[in-house]
Amino acid sequence: MRTAREMGIKTVAVFSEADRNFPHVKYADEAVCIGPAPSKESYLLGDKIIAVAQRLGADAIHPGYGFLSENAEFSRKVQEAGLIFIGPSPESIEVMGDKLSSKHAVAKYNIPMVPGTPDAITDRVAAKQKSAEIGYPVLIKASAGGGGKGMRVVENEEEFDEQMDRAVGEAISSFGNGACFIEKYITKPKHIEIQVVGDKHGNVVHFFERECSIQRRHQKVVEEAPSSVLTPEIREAMGQCAVMVAKACNYYGAGTVEFIVDEDLNFYFLEMNTRLQVEHPVTEMITGIDLVKEMIWVAEGKPLSVKQEDLKINGHAIEVRVCAEDPMNNFLPDVGKLQTYVRPQGNGVRVDDGIEEGMEIPIYYDPMIAKLIAYGKDRNEAIEKMLRAIDEFKITGVATTLPFCTFALKHEAFVSGKFDTRFVGLYFTPEVIQKETDQTELEIAAVLASQLLKNRQAPQTIASVQPNSQWRKNRASLRG
Ligand code: ADP
Ligand code: ADP
Ligand code: MG
Repeated sequence: MRTAREMGIKTVAVFSEADRNFPHVKYADEAVCIGPAPSKESYLLGDKIIAVAQRLGADAIHPGYGFLSENAEFSRKVQEAGLIFIGPSPESIEVMGDKLSSKHAVAKYNIPMVPGTPDAITDRVAAKQKSAEIGYPVLIKASAGGGGKGMRVVENEEEFDEQMDRAVGEAISSFGNGACFIEKYITKPKHIEIQVVGDKHGNVVHFFERECSIQRRHQKVVEEAPSSVLTPEIREAMGQCAVMVAKACNYYGAGTVEFIVDEDLNFYFLEMNTRLQVEHPVTEMITGIDLVKEMIWVAEGKPLSVKQEDLKINGHAIEVRVCAEDPMNNFLPDVGKLQTYVRPQGNGVRVDDGIEEGMEIPIYYDPMIAKLIAYGKDRNEAIEKMLRAIDEFKITGVATTLPFCTFALKHEAFVSGKFDTRFVGLYFTPEVIQKETDQTELEIAAVLASQLLKNRQAPQTIASVQPNSQWRKNRASLRG
């Protein structure tokens, strides 16, 4: 909506009853309630959203990320209603929305792929034989999967049937489609993805990579651009691959081609996300391009505003996802009221959020409350700015992923760039946060003690110390 406003375009927010008081509802020029809190009764009602758009005379719908953003049927219905869908064609979404059909679509373009079965598993005996050929561990994946769901690692043949049953069960319950396939499990994988944008005139450019290997439950928590391990040659090769993937499905709009990269920097195509991605700000920071503006631009039928040769990487950007999840308790979602919510500010700091102090975190949706982005002239400076920004970010009332992010950004594996998607499993335990908290509390106690000591020598200043309130404030922010 900010981008639209800059472009002189008026906006209408649609919201559920749970989101009535949220800042985006106030920010939009108009806002319409589309139903009760559960997304099945509001945000997933494509027809209702289209009807609202028509009633208000809107020209276009931007689907954001999540909900209907990768729903081919929605994109088709928007077009049929005579509106512009700010995203790719229904055909592109259809092909890329399914992991197996996307692999088929790019098969003839010489795109490197993880060894595995080319089709859904129908015969378990044959699947086990194939797994033995590939070599354990293998990964069973739901073809319709997303958000890290429907994925099971199989360590050996004995586990195969059990894990297969679980993967199929999860795939049916989450995606209504039980089709699963096998991939070799890359044991020290980095997740590196390439941002692409295409226009309706057949042009596709890439905006370099994002490294998203710090994940919990196969979902990203820390993202950065550029990656600290890619050489210019590999970057170029991955960029060209991503452009080919996009061209293979006549792609227009913003999209992301995800790759998995092994220890030796071999890269393999994973999937394409046919929408704007949560972590897109890091790309905007290092390229100076407003990706949402490009999306709107190409949706209007205009050619891309940039050529590949115009694009350069400037500096380094990191994003952390601030989720209402408790890192001390297995990253389980935490609910409650945001008692304190003070954003960090200053040079190189960007906060994309949709919440204000005093609000209740709705239990109905994803627990992400903000994205914190730091930008520096190089990776070290970006890390320093991020640590400072996290420190300034005061959130109490709910537990957040922020203490985990501090831990991750200070960890020598992260600092050296020598980390992969196993980071959380290898290095993180709740005790490491506890230790740091204890350490900080010790430091506070020491400062307090020395202040009290000084005050004893100069009793007239006691009133100005207010040890209790300061102590409590610090403790509260440590827990937040
Ligand atoms: P990314 O690769 O961008 O992290 P995800 O698949 O994790 O992609 O999801 C992107 C966003 O979409 C997340 O922020 C999440 O909140 C939202 N999302 C994912 N699945 C759903 C869903 N079923 N309903 C609503 N929102 C969803
Ligand atoms: P989703 O649609 O859930 O995002 P992806 O195929 O993108 O599914 O995989 C999500 C994450 O799972 C990746 O970022 C990576 O961490 C892990 N992963 C996926 N495929 C493999 C693989 N073959 N080997 C090891 N890890 C993998
Ligand atoms: Mg993915």
